[in-house]
Amino acid sequence: MTTQPTARHRADVAPDALPVPATDGSVAQWTDRYSHAVMDTFGPPQRVLVRGEGPYVWDADGRRYLDLLGGIAVNSLGHAHPTLTAAISAQLGTLGHVSNFFGSPTQIAFAETLLALAGAPEGSRVFLTNSGTEANEAAFKLARRTGRPRILALENAFHGRSMGALALTWKPAYREPFEPLPGGVEFVPFGDAGALADAMGDDVAALFVEPIQGEAGVRPLPPGYLAEARRLTREHGALLILDEVQTGMGRTGRWFAHQHDHLGGGVVPDAVTVAKGLGGGFPVGALIAYGPQVAALLGRGQHGTTFGGNPVASAAALATIGVIERDDLLAHVSELGAWIREAVAALQHLLVTDVRGDGLLVAIELAGPVSAAVAARALDAGFIVNPCTPTTLRLAPPFVLTQDQAQTFVDFLAALPADPTELTA
Ligand SMILES: *Cc1c(COP(=O)(O)O)cnc(C)c1O
Repeated sequence: MTTQPTARHRADVAPDALPVPATDGSVAQWTDRYSHAVMDTFGPPQRVLVRGEGPYVWDADGRRYLDLLGGIAVNSLGHAHPTLTAAISAQLGTLGHVSNFFGSPTQIAFAETLLALAGAPEGSRVFLTNSGTEANEAAFKLARRTGRPRILALENAFHGRSMGALALTWKPAYREPFEPLPGGVEFVPFGDAGALADAMGDDVAALFVEPIQGEAGVRPLPPGYLAEARRLTREHGALLILDEVQTGMGRTGRWFAHQHDHLGGGVVPDAVTVAKGLGGGFPVGALIAYGPQVAALLGRGQHGTTFGGNPVASAAALATIGVIERDDLLAHVSELGAWIREAVAALQHLLVTDVRGDGLLVAIELAGPVSAAVAARALDAGFIVNPCTPTTLRLAPPFVLTQDQAQTFVDFLAALPADPTELTA
């Protein structure tokens, strides 16, 4: 093992920079070291990656992959985007971190920008976090402050892994090893407005809902559901809290998925949580509380964070939003997403039973529980995709992906066997 810095890809580092960890070593060597140092919560890494550029990443053996997962809907601008890199570096070189006893212009401008993109009414406020689960923890505490005991979430929902967000997450295998969890959460069937009406009451603090369930396989709510959820929550004085951690910040071709007509057009929520794509790869999340009454639910001293709203994270988010606006990427996300769905459908491949999604959040449904086998083949062929359910492949590529690059994956799909039994993991 060498301690020499590899300057190959770091031409811009200052001459007095300390050595960065050597990238020398094969994928196999790094995987072995990983297993002795990193807790085994994720299983062995599929590859050990050393650098990225645009929609591509390279592993320690020098192999290139088209990153169609984008770090799970995070790397909106791709890898090593020069504008994002420059914004983070400039902020770190000016004012990197201050406690939340202080504000910074970058943080304040970021909060204002989020409120504007959300179209949030006068009196709305944001609470800045470092991740999606923390944004949902803040939303959970907001809901508790209504003084009402019950919280509703949807079957198959995913809201995060910390204890509060986990209580809102449906999958029993995620929840049960950690019980008792914060109480009062009940699950109602996905997309069933009648069941929601039956469960709703004046003792309900909030309904948590993803406009498109991401982890569950890119499953959009049926048209009209959010409008009905808004009507019911308003009637009973409950909060409507949208988890847009995966679907927000342009992923679906609008800044927020609920802004699409077919998902929730016209619905004004009480709160929205975002994270994943918000900082383009820099960890940052937010809870947006709509209107002065909701924003006032969390008062002075009732919530806090050391890092949330850190100037560097705020600069990363502002730069990511700025590039999406400057390069008109929302239109590209819509067009390329539609193109991918049409191109995959046009294959009329017997292995593919459905292709769905909005913008660049795409699910390819397979004719059997072979998504892991297909993802493994894809990786060997140089494509990163995600088997998010046994039958579903998820794509959440960078917004800078081109049609030609996407075509290479369509060609890969076309060459797959039609019979799922011919695919072994
Ligand atoms: C990923 C995700 C979360 C959790 O975000 P983390 O940053 O991993 O904590 C919460 N909700 C949804 C809908 C997500 O997709």
